[in-house]
Amino acid sequence: MLQKDPDSDMDSGDDPPVVVNGDDPGDGGVVFEPGEDSFTTNDPKIKMIEVNQGLSYGYNTNTGNFYLLSNFVAGKETAIFIDLDEPFDPRADVKLAIEKNEEPVAMLTSYDVIDDNTLLFHPRDILEVDNWGQGAYTFTFMMDDSVAVRTTNFHKSTPMKVLAVPIKGHYTNDVRSCGDDWKLGSTMLSALFPVARADVEYVLGPEQDFSDREYDLNTKPGRKKVWQELCALQTPNNDYTMIVGFMPTPTIEGYLGYTYGGEATVVCESGDDMLSTVVHEIAHCYKIGDEYKNGSINDILNPPPYGMKGKDIVTGEPSEGTKEHVIGGDSVGLKSSGSVIYPAQRAYWPEGRQVLGTKTSYMSSGTGEDSFMFWTTSDIWNHLFKVFTGQMTGKEVGYDPADDGSEPGKYRGRCFECFGEVFDPDRYIECTKCAKMVKISGDTFNCSDCGSSFNERDVDENDLWLYHSACGYLLNYPKFVEHNQGGSNRTSGDGEITVLEIRGNFSPTGAFSAEPWYSYKAGIATVTATRDGEYSASVFDGNGARLSIVFFNANDDSQINTREGYKWGAGEDDEDTDIPIKVIVRYPENAAKVVIHRGEEEIYVRNLTTKAPQVAFTGLTEGQKLDNHTTLTWVVSDADANELTYRIWYYRSNEDMYLVASDVTGSSYNADLTGYPGGEQCWFLIQASDGSRTSEGKSPKVSVPYRAPDILNYLPDGTQYKLTDMIEIHGKVYDAQDGWLWSREYTWYVDGQYDSDYAFFTVWPYTMAPGIHTITMEVTNSAGVSSTKDFVIEVLEYDLDLPDPWPKREITVALGRGYYQPLDKLNSPITRIEFAKMMFSFYLEGEMLSWLEDIPFDADPYNMEMFIEFSDLSNDIIDPDCAYAMRMIQLGLMELKNATYEDYGDFIMAYGDFDPHGLVTEREAMQIMYMAIELGRTQTYTTYEVLDESEFLPYIKEWGLLDETGLNSYNPGERMSKGLTMVRIARFIIYVHETIYGLDPDLLDPEYIYGYD
Ligand SMILES: [Zn+2]
Ligand SMILES: [Zn+2]
Ligand SMILES: [Zn+2]
Repeated sequence: MLQKDPDSDMDSGDDPPVVVNGDDPGDGGVVFEPGEDSFTTNDPKIKMIEVNQGLSYGYNTNTGNFYLLSNFVAGKETAIFIDLDEPFDPRADVKLAIEKNEEPVAMLTSYDVIDDNTLLFHPRDILEVDNWGQGAYTFTFMMDDSVAVRTTNFHKSTPMKVLAVPIKGHYTNDVRSCGDDWKLGSTMLSALFPVARADVEYVLGPEQDFSDREYDLNTKPGRKKVWQELCALQTPNNDYTMIVGFMPTPTIEGYLGYTYGGEATVVCESGDDMLSTVVHEIAHCYKIGDEYKNGSINDILNPPPYGMKGKDIVTGEPSEGTKEHVIGGDSVGLKSSGSVIYPAQRAYWPEGRQVLGTKTSYMSSGTGEDSFMFWTTSDIWNHLFKVFTGQMTGKEVGYDPADDGSEPGKYRGRCFECFGEVFDPDRYIECTKCAKMVKISGDTFNCSDCGSSFNERDVDENDLWLYHSACGYLLNYPKFVEHNQGGSNRTSGDGEITVLEIRGNFSPTGAFSAEPWYSYKAGIATVTATRDGEYSASVFDGNGARLSIVFFNANDDSQINTREGYKWGAGEDDEDTDIPIKVIVRYPENAAKVVIHRGEEEIYVRNLTTKAPQVAFTGLTEGQKLDNHTTLTWVVSDADANELTYRIWYYRSNEDMYLVASDVTGSSYNADLTGYPGGEQCWFLIQASDGSRTSEGKSPKVSVPYRAPDILNYLPDGTQYKLTDMIEIHGKVYDAQDGWLWSREYTWYVDGQYDSDYAFFTVWPYTMAPGIHTITMEVTNSAGVSSTKDFVIEVLEYDLDLPDPWPKREITVALGRGYYQPLDKLNSPITRIEFAKMMFSFYLEGEMLSWLEDIPFDADPYNMEMFIEFSDLSNDIIDPDCAYAMRMIQLGLMELKNATYEDYGDFIMAYGDFDPHGLVTEREAMQIMYMAIELGRTQTYTTYEVLDESEFLPYIKEWGLLDETGLNSYNPGERMSKGLTMVRIARFIIYVHETIYGLDPDLLDPEYIYGYD
C-alpha cells in the first residue's frame, strides 16, 4: 500500500514525507512536502484566517494559553473563519481564494457573518474544493484593499472501517434488542476523528445473539465474554479498524459503554449519549483516558481536570490530573465533568454547519441529554491526528521527546501498542537457536540464554524488533515503519508464517483453563511480542528444543474502560473474575508441545497433534438457493484428537466475509442468514481445530437472498414548512450488499408523481399548494431490489415570512410567476454571476423567455452566435452559472470588460473579463433592468454601454422599481444584497407584466395566482 523505505523515511529527524496514496491513481504516488503554517496580512484589522475541522485553536494544558491549530486531514469537511478586529462592513468586497500546491482550487464569495466581526466561509459541497485533497494550502482573504494569507497543510489519514453490530443482550434474565438508532451511530466519529469523511466506512453487520445467561451484561464475566465475542468478528484479513457492538440499554452499574481495549467496544444504544459514547469508547482503544472521577485516566495524552482521581489507563495504578490549567465543565456550570473546550477555541461542527459554544471533552461521563454537549479537545485531536496520519508535526502535546533538545535517532516514531513515543529504543532479534529475543549491542552480540553469537551485518530488518520500555512491547520493525507513515493501524494480513492462537482464562487463584485454540497463516507482526512478563508460552519440538517463546501478563487486557451515565454515579467493576488471555506464537511444522509457565513454574502443557483434521460441508450443492434459515452440516475425517471445535465464515467474495459462528461443536449448525448481505456466488468456510492443527473446508457456491436497501432518513411526520423555508432531504441509505449509498441517484416522487432523480431532494414550498404533501424516496440497489419511504410534510398557507418592510405582494407575485430563488442568506451581497442567474431564473422559467425571443434575430450586431470566453475564470473553475452570465452578455445587458471580438463569419468570438465574483452596485443593477425593459419595448438587441445615470433614473422611478422609501431608495454606489435584489426584480417582473403585457393588475393578485396553481 504505502511505499516502504525505512532508511530514507526514518533516518532523518524531520517529518517523514508522506506518500500520497489513492488521490491520483494515474500517478502511482506523489510525494507531498508539507510547508510552513503561517499567517500574514497588510491590515491589522484582520486578526486571523482560521482553518477549522472542528476547532480553530488548541488549549495548552501546561500554560493555559491558546494556540493556532495546524493539524488538518485531507478530505475532511472544513470551514474557514476570518476573525476581524472590528465589526464587519457588509459593503466590503470580500472573497477567499484557495490554492493547493500553488494551483487554484476555488474562489469563495459566499459567507456568513457571525457575531459581527467574524466571517465564515464554508463551501456548499466538498467537490467545490476538489475534496480538500492532500497538499500545502494557501488561503488568501481579500476585503477591498486588505489582504491576508494563511498557509497550512492537509495530510492524508488512514481510513477507518468500523463494523457496527446490534446486540441481543441479556440483562439479569431479561433479553433486550436494539432499535434502529445504532445504524446512524457514526455521526460524531466522522465529525471528531481526524479521518476524511469518505474514509470512515461504517459497516452495518448482523445482530449478535448474546441472549444466553453467560453473556449477562450486568455481570463482569458476561461483559468480558461479549467483548471477546465482538473481538472474534475481526476478519482473517483484519479488515476492521474497530468493531462496535451496541447494547440496548445501560448495564445495571450504569455503564453506557465499555471496552477492554483492542479492537472492540460496546456502546449503549438508548438515550441521547450514544453518538458521543461511540467516540469515547473508540478513543479508549487509542489509550485516550477518561475525564471523570474514578475513570481510567491518561494524564499525559489528555490530562483530566486538575486533581481528578482515577486509575492510569496504561498501568492500572492510581493516578490523578496534575495539570492545574485543566478545569472540568462542572466547575463552569456545565453538567459534565470533562475538561472545558473554550469559546475562544471555536468549536464548530462542519458537517452540521453549526458554531458551538462552550463544550466539554467527550471523555466525560454521559449526561443522558445531548451528545453535542461534548466535543473533542485539542489534545485528543492532536493525539489521534498523529495516530491516523503518522505525522510527527505539532509540538503541542507535551510528551514528544523531540522537544527535549536531544538528537533524534533512526528508530523514532509512535508505538502501535500504547501510542506513546518511541525514541532510540533497544533493538532485538529472535535467537535462531533458542527462540529468545536477543538484544543487539555492538557489532557482534550473544544470546544471553544459549550463548549463540550474532553479527549486526546479518540482521534482517524484517525480523527486527524494537523494545518500547513504556509499555513493555517489542514492536515489529516493518509494522512500526508502516504505522508511522500513516499506514495501517492494524496488523498486516499477509500470511507468511503459521501461528497458533492460544486462548484461555486465568482464574482469580491463578489456575489456567484453555478455550479453543486455532492455528492459521499470518504476518510475523501478529505474533505476541513482549520481552518479559509474568507468564510465557513456549513451543518445543519432539526433542525438547525450544522453537518459539512469547512472554505475557494476565492483567493488562483485563482492565475495563467504561463510560458511565451521569445519574448513575461511579460504577464499580472490581469483583474478582477470570482474566482472559490471547497470545499468538509461531507454530513451526515440527512443533510438538506448548508449555505455559508462570516464571519458572510449568502451569499448563498441551501436546500438539501432527495431523490436522479434514473437514468438509455436506448437503450443499453448487448454485443452491438458500433460505434465510439454513442448517449447515459437515463431516470430519482423519482426526487424531477427539474434541474438535469449529468456526464458520460466510464469504461473498475473497474480500467480503463475516463470522457466522465460533467455537461450535458437533456436526451441524442452524444458521440465521437474515442479517447478512445476499449474493449469487457465495460460500461458507468452516475451520476445524483439534486444539493445535486447524484445517478448512469450503462449501460449493450458493445463493443467499438479497436484502433491500435500508432508508434511514428521518423527517418527522407532519413537519410544517413556511414559504421562506427550503425543503431538503438527503439520502441516508444503507444497503447490505452495496454499503452506504450516499450519492446514488434516488428517485423522488411528490404526491405520487415522478419528480426527479437526484442524490437529494430540494423544493421550495412556494412552488407547492398549501396543505399536506407526500414526498416518496425510492432506492434501488445493484441487485435490483428496491425500497421506498414516504416523508409527509405540510406546506403552510401563503403568508410570506419576509422581513417586515418588504413588499410581500411583489415577491409573492414574482414567485408565483415562476421566479425561483432560495429565500435564505438575504443579507449577503450578490455577485455579478449570482445577479445574472437571478435575472435569468425568471427569464428561463417565466414569460420573459417568450418576450425576448420575439426580438428580431437580425437586429443584433452580436447575435446569439456569439461565443464568450471569460479571461478571469480559469479552466479549473467552471461555474455552472456561467451560462446565465453569457446569455446576459449576449443580450448586451451585462458588461464584458476589456472585450475583444473576433468575427468568424458564422459566429463571433468574444474575449474579456466578467469578474464573476465582483459585487453588483445599485447603479449597475438599475441600468441592467432599464435596458432589459427597453429591449423588450423596442424589440431590439443592443451592445452593452455604460449609460449616464440621468438616462435611466427617471424611468426606473416612474416604473416603480425605485421609490423614496427607506427600503427602496437609490444609493448608486451601494452594493446590492440578495434580499434587495429580490425586491427590485419582483417590482421589475410586475412592471413587465402590467405594462408590457398589459395584464390586468387583478390577475397579478397573489390569491388569483395561487388560486389556479
Ligand atoms: Zn508502547
Ligand atoms: Zn539463544
Ligand atoms: Zn471511558
